[in-house]
Amino acid sequence: EREADSRQPRAHDPADDRLRPQRLSEVVGQRSVAERLSIALLAARKRGEPLPHILFDGPPGLGKTTFATVLHNELGVELNITSGAALDKKMDVMPYLTNAAEGSILFIDEIHRLPRAVEEFIYPVMEDFRVDVVLGEGMSARTINLPTKKFTIIGATTRSGMLSGPLRERFHMHEHLEFYDREDLATIITVNAQKLRTKISLEAAWELSGRCRGTPRIANARLRWVRDYALARADGDVTTSIARDALDMQEIDTEGLDKQDRRYLETLIRVFHGGPTGVEAIAATMNVAVDTLRDEVEPYLLRREFVVRTPRGRQACSLAYRHLGISEPEPEPT
Ligand code: ADP
Repeated sequence: EREADSRQPRAHDPADDRLRPQRLSEVVGQRSVAERLSIALLAARKRGEPLPHILFDGPPGLGKTTFATVLHNELGVELNITSGAALDKKMDVMPYLTNAAEGSILFIDEIHRLPRAVEEFIYPVMEDFRVDVVLGEGMSARTINLPTKKFTIIGATTRSGMLSGPLRERFHMHEHLEFYDREDLATIITVNAQKLRTKISLEAAWELSGRCRGTPRIANARLRWVRDYALARADGDVTTSIARDALDMQEIDTEGLDKQDRRYLETLIRVFHGGPTGVEAIAATMNVAVDTLRDEVEPYLLRREFVVRTPRGRQACSLAYRHLGISEPEPEPT
């Protein structure tokens, strides 16, 4: 199993690997996705063929890599991991294609970042398991087709909208991952506390579940913090009041929003009078990357309706004013 490429910008935290479910039965939530994948698994096994190509989309930390890992474990096949950001040229992706074992899985994270030329190079693999290589130059150039083994490409993206139509169409299954509800998060927290050999009360797990932005990866990170806090300030057991104090110390509020989330809302409300305004303007004012706002900050704020997207840009909703304790301007008389 190859490690995630170090050039990956938001590399998967190796700390996540220890807490990652290994089997489909250990996956919590995302029920309908898990059911469809179990059908695909069964069919692939019965037919003795590789899994269909699968595209996972959704905000970071919701389980895209987890599902790829689970599928590879369930089938007992090889898994290779790379990222669209690391595949600049055809020659970068070539070894992954020609070395892929029969039935294996190639996981391409951030697949929306593949340059067009690399993307087109992959099309014949996804369709017919062959790569087209051009030999020579000019008049004497000719294309030869090299067959590859039959294997599966699993793509993951936080931005399915940025994927080209032709690439999207070459995936046989499209699975969208949604934010998790509190029950599922509380289960994940309880299970992972056990893996970390930490005692956590049901009530404390519930408290934490409401303050992790619907995201298992954030739940894991906050659980680790709460666990350290419990050890430093008490006997190591996580009670509700310890969980609360630990999260307050990290300035995570009762809605689970962190400083960056609140700065986003404050900027939108105070600088742009609640909007509508473009995300680029908010990013420039906050001095953070637009991609960070689009991929990491906005999805949850949109989902919870702190903010809405309008044709003229982002607009703050009443909930945002209320949450920040800012009085909302009266609607203009019409
Ligand atoms: P993504 O690839 O979408 O960014 P990951 O698959 O790396 O997210 O998930 C991050 C972590 O969250 C995993 O290591 C795992 O501990 C946890 N996790 C994600 N989805 C689930 C799930 N459905 N059930 C249990 N734990 C999960």
